[in-house]
Amino acid sequence: MSTAIVEVNAIPLEKNLSKVFQGGTYKITSRYTLVTEIRLANGVVGQTYGGDEERYQSEIVEIINGPYRDILVGQDVFDVERDWESLFQYQPSTLINRGIHTLDLANKSIIMQAIAAVDIARWDAIGKTVNKPLYKMLGSYRDRVPVIAIGGYLEAEKGEKEFGDELLGYKKAQIAGVKMKVGHLTPAEDAERVRFARRTVGDDFIIACDANQAWSIEQAIEFARLVQKCNVRWFEEPMQWHDQLRGLAQIRAASDIPIVAGQGEISRFGCRDLALAGALDILNVDATIAGGITEWRRIAGMASTLNIGMAHHEEPQVAVHLLASVAHGLYVEIFNNPERDPLWFELPEAHPVIKDGYMTVPQGPGLGMPLREKTIDQYRASVPVAGRS
Ligand SMILES: [Mg+2]
Repeated sequence: MSTAIVEVNAIPLEKNLSKVFQGGTYKITSRYTLVTEIRLANGVVGQTYGGDEERYQSEIVEIINGPYRDILVGQDVFDVERDWESLFQYQPSTLINRGIHTLDLANKSIIMQAIAAVDIARWDAIGKTVNKPLYKMLGSYRDRVPVIAIGGYLEAEKGEKEFGDELLGYKKAQIAGVKMKVGHLTPAEDAERVRFARRTVGDDFIIACDANQAWSIEQAIEFARLVQKCNVRWFEEPMQWHDQLRGLAQIRAASDIPIVAGQGEISRFGCRDLALAGALDILNVDATIAGGITEWRRIAGMASTLNIGMAHHEEPQVAVHLLASVAHGLYVEIFNNPERDPLWFELPEAHPVIKDGYMTVPQGPGLGMPLREKTIDQYRASVPVAGRS
């Protein structure tokens, strides 16, 4: 049977959260994602979800369901690199339209998220065609990946007792650690929260800290020094965005805590520049933002030549396969909280087993996590969408 692509379809989802979650530089009030499907002539449907994009969701959908569909339909699903390059070189006219005297500030992340969505869906279709899990097709290194929970948000009416209960809940769920939010308070106040967390969970639990680009270089160094006895596994996006190449290297030199960055990078080129600047120890580039599985694997190859570890920002449904496929893969991340990430709980038909601090890689073909049609229909967003829907 032919493995030609016969249909491509992106469906935006949106769900309002029941409460507000506060991180270093932002508030979360809704969960967004994009379901992308690629149908082949042999009857296989590749399907994935990914991203949490609010502002540009409709633009991403328009590109996928318009020009990208036109490029992909009729191509063989196995011709991954050729199609990736065609999508990468395509210039959507709506994004490059600009006045003579303005710089080109088109949001390139729209393109890279659109490429990512179709790339991941096609890899799922390939896995279903050859009847192999994605991580096996990529050349597996391990069958389970250590798992941590993203948490420690500042929330209304959340005191020390509630924070402690949250941390102990992760332990009880056999999760290996927590990546806690810092950066919204002063370095001294957040260091006290980290000390409290360490006292609460004991020594045999991973604690990582994520400032989401909140602090100055000086504040980040101050925080790193204040928590140096807390066995912090890593310090993620410690500083503001505008001087990261130089600043991250400076923070890294001033502290023993490994530095993580890269979740905001949209391509291998940006990751290369961070790596060569000596800015980090671990890259947490996100395949759903930065060009999909194909681009993530290129970045992982580059990182391995510089002894840089690979993490992955959120998106466990894809990350668990990628992190299991490379020797330098680290922790898969989940929100173990249906109020923060209802789609993780409601969208997949079944979830990977979490036991003894590890997530077992799904063994079904492709991503191995079929999605519930009922949930897709329930949260289908009402954004205007070009093309068929
Ligand atoms: Mg982060």
